[in-house]
Amino acid sequence: MTDTKRTGRTRIICSLTATSATEMRRDMFAAAAAGADAVELRLDYLQIPPARQEIADLLAGAPVETIVTCRPTAEGGKFRGPESDRLAILANAVRLGADWVDVEAAVTPHYWPASVGRVILSLHDFKRCPPDLDDIAARLDGSEAAVNKIAFAAAEPRDALRAFDVLRNCRKPTLVLAMGQAGLVSRILGGKFGAFGTFAALAHGKESAPGQPTIRELTDLYRVKSLTPASAVYGVIGWPIAHSMSPAIHNAAFAAAGMDACYVPLLIEPGPDDFRRFMDALLARTWMDCRGLSVTIPHKEHALRYVGADNCDSLAVRIGAVNTITIAPDGSLAGDNTDYAGAIDSLVAGMAIAREDLAGRRAAVLGAGGVARAIVAALMHYGCELTVYNRTVKRGRQLAEEFGAAFDGLDNLDRLDAEIVINCTSIGMYPDVDCSPLAPLVKIPPCVKAVFDTIYNPVETRLIRQARAAGCAAITGLDMFVNQAVAQFERWTAKPAPRQVMREVVARKLGACNENE
Ligand code: NAP
Repeated sequence: MTDTKRTGRTRIICSLTATSATEMRRDMFAAAAAGADAVELRLDYLQIPPARQEIADLLAGAPVETIVTCRPTAEGGKFRGPESDRLAILANAVRLGADWVDVEAAVTPHYWPASVGRVILSLHDFKRCPPDLDDIAARLDGSEAAVNKIAFAAAEPRDALRAFDVLRNCRKPTLVLAMGQAGLVSRILGGKFGAFGTFAALAHGKESAPGQPTIRELTDLYRVKSLTPASAVYGVIGWPIAHSMSPAIHNAAFAAAGMDACYVPLLIEPGPDDFRRFMDALLARTWMDCRGLSVTIPHKEHALRYVGADNCDSLAVRIGAVNTITIAPDGSLAGDNTDYAGAIDSLVAGMAIAREDLAGRRAAVLGAGGVARAIVAALMHYGCELTVYNRTVKRGRQLAEEFGAAFDGLDNLDRLDAEIVINCTSIGMYPDVDCSPLAPLVKIPPCVKAVFDTIYNPVETRLIRQARAAGCAAITGLDMFVNQAVAQFERWTAKPAPRQVMREVVARKLGACNENE
């Protein structure tokens, strides 16, 4: 058997939970074809405890390494029979060719169903990250078993960082998994720390533990097979975060640029203290090699406060939101707002002008939410003559006054007199795709030369179609989304971003979103 601590190879282990041996065997071959390096045969999931011949048939000619597990109900598994039967099933499996056997730490070595060199000694805590995690790890590491395995429920991504502490400290090949969505990073980055393996499901719905990604997600989205001890780490902090497109776009960009880097989702609870505690824990672990973070709702204001105004782009400070943190090798932080940068770059590219050429142009921003705020601040900074239109008068007036713009109600758009119109409302967003903020106008007035709709779902909104029909430059939310990610990539890496690759990823994702809805 290979020693992953020496070779650095971290197995993708597909946990198989079929209820019949025939189906489990079929899944084993499917897992191997999908890119798994090993399978965990969860024999406790089989409806009928397997007889010797059934185990032999299951294991015969296995295409990848095999780990057998028969977890009792007391340890969160499904096996209800006597302990002697359970251990006999495991012993049979090893005699019939299984490479590894998972043995719970509660089983005394005298009863281990295999020689110590085949034993993965495991401990599970389905409620929390054990407060005595380091002691548990030391006990497992001091045992005769070949491999240590610890799995615990993660309440927050700080718990996943604890998993890496253990991986770094154990002397034997080790698996440490923080379960649940908050622990996902522990399943992705194990390879950076020489983990024995990481578990994956064959498909969604076939997970054997909460938060398990699929094999394809690990190989194609996170590229875990190319992780090295030197891999740089990037991520997106938000709440919620599961539907963020950022991991797909940035991981594809790193791959296209040939960079040894991985971008992970980080689900951090909404409070400022949650944000601060995670950042402190992350930055204290300099060996994480974290070089950059995207920050999304609801943490953009917290990010500004954490990084400190003196270390942030002045317009980001004016907007009051940082969506990009850059971490220098010496640990110092810088904050930027690529939401405004992405929007302005999209606008000027669509109009074939430079940012400075915006000075003196009349513009209308529809909406007064977070996106409008970033765009209003930037347009005023570049010298536009700006009017904010909003449904809720108080909110719109407040935003306009803060940045020195004019204000009008959204129902006064017939008075529109601007060269540039930017929609920052959600009018026209899926599923209300037949709506447009300019629908009440008979036609777009001739003074309007450029229309920018920040909505990206759908990309071709009714407003964008109206703009094209009127011969205006039409700038989409897709342009803005890609440009803000491009700006992040370039800020972090000081290299030109593979823009086309990034655009294709977002366009593909958006296509997939619409199909699913
Ligand atoms: P937000 O803070 O919730 O603000 C929403 C704005 O839309 C408010 O001004 C609100 O007006 C207005 N609004 C909503 N429904 C309306 C309706 N039925 N009629 C009139 N006005 C309405 O949202 P946000 O984060 O700023 O996002 C705004 C838009 O930006 C969304 O469409 C989103 O898709 C888009 N966006 C694009 C990107 C990108 O990268 N392309 C990124 C993020 C967001 P009131 O003040 O009257 O409520």
